[in-house]
Amino acid sequence: MDLFEYQARDLFEAHGVPVLAGIVAQTADEAQAAAQKLGGVTVVKAQVKVGGRGKAGGVKVAKTADEARSHAEQILGMDIKGHEVKRVMITEGADIAEEYYFSVLLDRANRNYLAMCSVEGGMEIEQLAVERPEALARIAVDPAVGIDAAKAAEIVDTAGFAADVRGAVIETIQTLWTVFTEEDATLVEVNPLVKTGDGKILALDGKVSLDENAGFRHPGHEALEDKAAADPLEAKAKAADLNYVKLDGQVGIIGNGAGLVMSTLDVVAYAGEKHGDVKPANFLDIGGGASAEVMAAGLDVILNDPQVKSVFVNVFGGITACDAVANGIVKALQILGDEATKPLVVRLDGNKVDEGRKILDAAAHPMITQAATMDEGADKAAELAAK
Ligand code: GDP
Ligand code: MN
Repeated sequence: MDLFEYQARDLFEAHGVPVLAGIVAQTADEAQAAAQKLGGVTVVKAQVKVGGRGKAGGVKVAKTADEARSHAEQILGMDIKGHEVKRVMITEGADIAEEYYFSVLLDRANRNYLAMCSVEGGMEIEQLAVERPEALARIAVDPAVGIDAAKAAEIVDTAGFAADVRGAVIETIQTLWTVFTEEDATLVEVNPLVKTGDGKILALDGKVSLDENAGFRHPGHEALEDKAAADPLEAKAKAADLNYVKLDGQVGIIGNGAGLVMSTLDVVAYAGEKHGDVKPANFLDIGGGASAEVMAAGLDVILNDPQVKSVFVNVFGGITACDAVANGIVKALQILGDEATKPLVVRLDGNKVDEGRKILDAAAHPMITQAATMDEGADKAAELAAK
C-alpha cells in the first residue's frame, strides 16, 4: 500500500525523522487557514500517489496566506498523470541550501534490501540515475543487520557527503531505517532530503509503501488506506477475504491455487482471440478449502462486475475434492438465486472428479455448462462471453 506524502510525513514525525509541520486541506479556505496558522512562507503541495508533482506544477511556494489560498485553488482538482488532486498539504517553507536523495527498498531480485543515496537529489533524480549512475550510491543492506551506524556511514561516505552534514545525515538515515523496519515498509524514499540555510537536515518529501502482508502487526495501518480510491469490487472481495484482482475483460475467472488461476487467465486470453478478443475479467483464487460460502462470495463479486458476460470456474480437486466443490457451486447458485444470471462454464478435474461431475449433472442448473478440459472450458466461456 502506497501512502500519501502527508501520511509519510506523519510516520516520519512519529519516529523522530526531522520534518516540517504540515496541515492537510481539502478546500482553498482550509488551505488559507492552514497557511495562516503555520505563519510565514508556506508551501502548497498536491497530495497524489505519483511522482513528479513539482514538475507538473503541483508544488508551489506561498509568501502569504492569500497566496497559499490561490495556489490551493489552482492545485485542487488538477490532474497529475491521471491522478485527480483532492487534497493539498500546506507545509512550513524551508530555506533550502542543498537537496539530497535517500531511499531504502526491498530488493526482491537480490533477496535483500537496497539503499540508494546521492548528494544531488531533487527533481532530476531519475535523469541522474540514467545519465550519471556513479552519482547515485547503491549499497546492499543485509536484512539481518540493517542500517546500523557503520552501514549508514558507508552509505553517506559512498555518496560523498561533506563533513558539515555527515553526522546529521548518518543519524537521519538510521532513523529512516527504523521507519522502514518498524512499520514493515517495502519502500522509504526521501527526495529531497535537504540541508537548510542554517545547516539543519530535513526530510522535505516522503514516499512510503507499506507491506500489506504485515498488516496484522499494525492495527493503525488500515486507517491509512484510501478507501475512496479502491475499486468497489476489490473492496467487496477484500471484505469477504477473497484474493481478487479486477482486470479489464469479459470472462469472470474462479480457480483454486494462484498458479492454476494465472494459467487460466492465459488460456482464456488465448481462446478469447478467436472470439472477438474477449479477455479475462479478473483474478480470483478461492484457495484450497473452497466451501460453498467462499464459492458464493466469489461468484457474488464476479457476477456484480457489469463487464462480465460469462464465468469460467476452473478447479483442480485436491484436499478439497471435486464433489465438495460441485456441491459448493450448486449451493452457491442457490444462495445467489436470481442474481446468477450469467452462464457458468465449470471444469473439474483431480480428486473425485467423477462424483463432482455427477453432482453438477444432477443439479441440471440452466446456467451451468461442464467442460472436460481447461482449453475446452476456456473456449466455451470465451464463446459465451462474445455472444
Ligand atoms: P515531487 O516533485 O513530487 O517530488 O515534490 P517535492 O515535494 O519533492 O517538491 C519538489 C521540489 O519543490 C523540491 O525538490 C524543492 O526544490 C521544492 N520545494 C519543496 N518544498 C519546498 C520548500 O519548503 N521550500 C522551497 N524553497 N522549495 C521547496
Ligand atoms: Mn520529491
